[in-house]
Amino acid sequence: MDIKVPQSIKIGNFNYNVKFTEHMKVDENWRGSCCQRRGLIEIDPIGGDSMNRTLIHEVIHMINFNYECGFAEDTVARIAHGVAELIFDNLGIGLDWSDIGRY
Ligand SMILES: [Zn+2]
Repeated sequence: MDIKVPQSIKIGNFNYNVKFTEHMKVDENWRGSCCQRRGLIEIDPIGGDSMNRTLIHEVIHMINFNYECGFAEDTVARIAHGVAELIFDNLGIGLDWSDIGRY
């Protein structure tokens, strides 16, 4: 089962728009980013499983910020790996990116 990635994701009191930004991996060696100031999650549209797992990672950053968890980057990464394993590997859920725009 695939679930559509929404164009915006609300965590706590904040809405974050989701968009594709090309070449993030090549230019910055990032697969995604999450900016509180701009209310924006950017994902490099490099395809497949990497995009799905990167979205989960960036959402964990949003949760970390909004709920003041105080997680360091490596903790965010570990939690994101576990949540991604639950969603994608155990529940068999995929993501449909067809509503997400490129900028
Ligand atoms: Zn991160």
